[in-house]
Amino acid sequence: MEYITKITKNEKINKWNGLTREQAFTLEKDCLTILNNNFECICNLKCSSHFPIIKELIEDKFTFILSNCGPDIKSYNKQNIEKMHINNINEQIDCIIHNLKKNKIINFDLSKNGKNICISKEGIISMIDFDMAVIDNNILSTQLQKYYDKQNKNNVYYDNCRKKLMIITKDFSNNI
Ligand SMILES: [Zn+2]
Repeated sequence: MEYITKITKNEKINKWNGLTREQAFTLEKDCLTILNNNFECICNLKCSSHFPIIKELIEDKFTFILSNCGPDIKSYNKQNIEKMHINNINEQIDCIIHNLKKNKIINFDLSKNGKNICISKEGIISMIDFDMAVIDNNILSTQLQKYYDKQNKNNVYYDNCRKKLMIITKDFSNNI
């Protein structure tokens, strides 16, 4: 397995999530730990995960060593990296939503340009970047509350997230 290093940005308060460096690091750590520990692949492919797997944490340096999920769709589009056909898109996305829902995790940081939706060389779809997130309705800042009010009004988050992932991934996959 290939690994990457991720360091939580050194800012007093991050303007996007309204969190201190420590809070943002802890939020992402908690999300990934929950997703890693309870991961259940419901795809026929039986993927090892659709989220980064924590190999190591260097807490005093706000550093993660994570499994490499591949570039995100935004980077593929930007850098003209060769695209690939993705098998079992519906199944993989259902699996991502299943795991998020089961663990009561919401990730607000997804957009139509394919940010934070990664595709590995093997065509495995993963969701990354959990520092604009909410676990079990525990909203840590006013910024996150705003995203929550916008994206999860009447509990529509998971349905909308599924639709969004389908559109982004299918566009990308057809676009060979
Ligand atoms: Zn799966």
